[in-house]
Amino acid sequence: MLNGIGASRGYGIGKAIIIKNASLDYSHKKYTSAENEKERLQKAIDSFVKETSLLAESVKKSAGDKEAEILRGHIVMVNDPFMISQIRESIDNGSVAEKGVDTACQMFIDMFSSADDELIKQRASDVKDIRDSLLKKLLNTVGADIDSVPPDSVLIAEDFTPSMTSRIKKENVNAIITEVGGITSHSAILARAMGLPAVLSVSGATERIQNGDILIVDGIKGNIIINPEKSDIDKYAQIQAEYLREKESLNAYIGKPTVTENGNKKAVYGNIGKPEDVQNVIQNSGEGIGLFRTEFLFMERSCEPSEEEQYEAYATVARAMDFKEVIIRTLDIGGDKDIPYLAVEKEENPFLGHRAIRYCLDEKKLFKKQIRAILRAAVYGNIKIMLPLITCTDEVRRAKSIIAECENELKNENTEFKSVPLGIMVETPSAVLISDILAKEVDFFSIGTNDLTGYIMAVDRGNAKVSKLYDTSMPSVLKAIEITIKNAKANGITVGMCGEAAADVNLIPLFLEWGLDEFSVSPGSILQTRKTICENNG
Ligand code: PEP
Ligand code: MG
Repeated sequence: MLNGIGASRGYGIGKAIIIKNASLDYSHKKYTSAENEKERLQKAIDSFVKETSLLAESVKKSAGDKEAEILRGHIVMVNDPFMISQIRESIDNGSVAEKGVDTACQMFIDMFSSADDELIKQRASDVKDIRDSLLKKLLNTVGADIDSVPPDSVLIAEDFTPSMTSRIKKENVNAIITEVGGITSHSAILARAMGLPAVLSVSGATERIQNGDILIVDGIKGNIIINPEKSDIDKYAQIQAEYLREKESLNAYIGKPTVTENGNKKAVYGNIGKPEDVQNVIQNSGEGIGLFRTEFLFMERSCEPSEEEQYEAYATVARAMDFKEVIIRTLDIGGDKDIPYLAVEKEENPFLGHRAIRYCLDEKKLFKKQIRAILRAAVYGNIKIMLPLITCTDEVRRAKSIIAECENELKNENTEFKSVPLGIMVETPSAVLISDILAKEVDFFSIGTNDLTGYIMAVDRGNAKVSKLYDTSMPSVLKAIEITIKNAKANGITVGMCGEAAADVNLIPLFLEWGLDEFSVSPGSILQTRKTICENNG
């Protein structure tokens, strides 16, 4: 079995087709004349624009206008007067059209890649896509033959660029697999919009899977079974049919209040990593954001986001949620979340090391930048701050004093801001054991069952030999959850849960019985969670 990131939910069973990129080597091309090379260039651009416009139209129909916008952006970029003048200048200096395109595009790729802004950085992959398309046209090379794959195919590629993804004929493709990319890559966004199950970041997928292999792709767990037994295929076909039936029936819960069978009001919130994920929460009628994992704003870039960038991101989410609660968790790095440019020292036991709130309290400048951005964005909605990995009261008090310092600074600068409620994640055994004391320090708790399970069971969830012990339904973990809820209630603060267990249909009835107020789950699990709550007492 291969494993990657389940980036688009659903199951796909089909025959593997490896999409290898065509060779873009142009070293054999001979320079004719500037006039001829420029004519070749213009023809390639015209053909690119025509093809991309048609693609954008078909994407608009199959996936939506927002997705088509990515391709329309390519047309604008390829017509950029500066880019064209750079290519033509290179041709005037004796380069073949291919080299002109390659050199000019590379200049833009380097420029965009080094930008601070994540959106600008994304444009580097758009320019790469444009460069490859133009080179294929100039070299008359047929690219990856995505358009004409037979029905029931599973496509595997190192990466799917936006133009490759949009060429996919949905009716013939049951799933996609890539070697790189994450939840927020363009290919993942498009795959989700097309409703195609996708597993990304499967290392060595194009080598380990052979053309013609039968594959089962589980876009929920991120698993791929190669050449499964007939019994596996039957099992997954059943799971898939059941999944589709249930998905359909869950639509009845869109916009429905989350009320238990015996009439108690609860709330189902969504977990997000980037501002754009908020749309997914809204589409599934999430009643708030219970966990904004802000570390994702810091990832896949070469330096930390500025206060301004963070302010924009938080304000975008606050505005989009229209005064519904938005719980922003301060930077939770370390453990399995490495951010290379922050140079967190390599440690023997990273999960027990200098991570999350511990790191932020020591890196005060970085922490203050984030707090200031959150307080400023709070003006636009109902924002709350949540601290990760709290183990003792001192950490909360130190964080509070830094927040107060930021508020004073903003006041003195006459910068608009709003004070916000403060909560903590209860995700360490220590926080559970003193939850009665911590509850007097903060406005709310959110139980982080992902870490809590690991720390209580003393198990590294990445270690296959002990993975059976990584189980939230173990009595000790459940007891810790019960204690936390009880202490929150006794002290009159609200208590939610934002670990994966919040969406566990088998555990939800227990959490309801103990009085959990808010369940924050991944956007795709909102409706199922609401359904389970509505069907149980609590
Ligand atoms: C958790 O630990 O349960 C949690 C929600 O946080 P993360 O998965 O980001 O560590
Ligand atoms: Mg955690």
